[in-house]
Amino acid sequence: MVNDETHRYLQFTCPSCKRRVRAHQPDPSKLPRFFPFCSERCKLVDLGAWLDADYRIPSRPEEDSDPPIDQAEPHQ
Ligand SMILES: [Zn+2]
Repeated sequence: MVNDETHRYLQFTCPSCKRRVRAHQPDPSKLPRFFPFCSERCKLVDLGAWLDADYRIPSRPEEDSDPPIDQAEPHQ
């Protein structure tokens, strides 16, 4: 017998755009990547609202001068 419970969905409302989101949720122990937001964009928008005065999301991604995060720093 095939059990339909393998098709799990998580429903939530994106706090940024107020859209109802239904995410496929095969593993209940994991949350969607941008939970509780529907997308990275909404996550960033909400973050921008929090830090409105100090932080603005650039309209165009110009990240040519990305500083390398992965520097060879010895941690001991
Ligand atoms: Zn959203």
